[in-house]
Amino acid sequence: MTNPQRIRINNRRTNQAKWRSHKIWKDLVKEHAHTPEAVCEHCLKHHGELKKSGKPVYLTINHTSRSLYATEELYTTWNPQYMEICCTTCNWMYEKGKKSCPVCHNQYIHALEPDNMCQGCWDKKHPIEAQKRMVDVRKRARERKAIKAALIQREKDKVKKWKEDHKK
Ligand SMILES: [Zn+2]
Ligand SMILES: [Zn+2]
Repeated sequence: MTNPQRIRINNRRTNQAKWRSHKIWKDLVKEHAHTPEAVCEHCLKHHGELKKSGKPVYLTINHTSRSLYATEELYTTWNPQYMEICCTTCNWMYEKGKKSCPVCHNQYIHALEPDNMCQGCWDKKHPIEAQKRMVDVRKRARERKAIKAALIQREKDKVKKWKEDHKK
């Protein structure tokens, strides 16, 4: 990245941080994200709802178009086409390339996951294949256990043989 590019990004971040501290932005979030009916568009959780971790969900507004970064007015004016309600967890996952499973909204999956659902949902949709996979997993686990047991036995035998060979 060249320096002017970095400066532009830094400026944009400073602007956003500044705008986000203004009342107009806080009111926008309160009005659209912190209402009883508002939900995260991805995991469908409400603001303040407790997560599995016991911490409350925090909803905020995401800009899905860079064009809204241009001015404070654009940034802080409700625009359902280019804004979405999103919780901080989904937002963070998104930055890591993951998204909420669109079927159960309960698991995070890779954003480019070809089946577009989590393993649990896939299994529910394909019970026969899921059953087969479980059998395979158990079979492989048994095989691994048998191989490990054989290796341990071989070591024991070696020690035993060595002791016998070196008896006085
Ligand atoms: Zn979410
Ligand atoms: Zn799922």
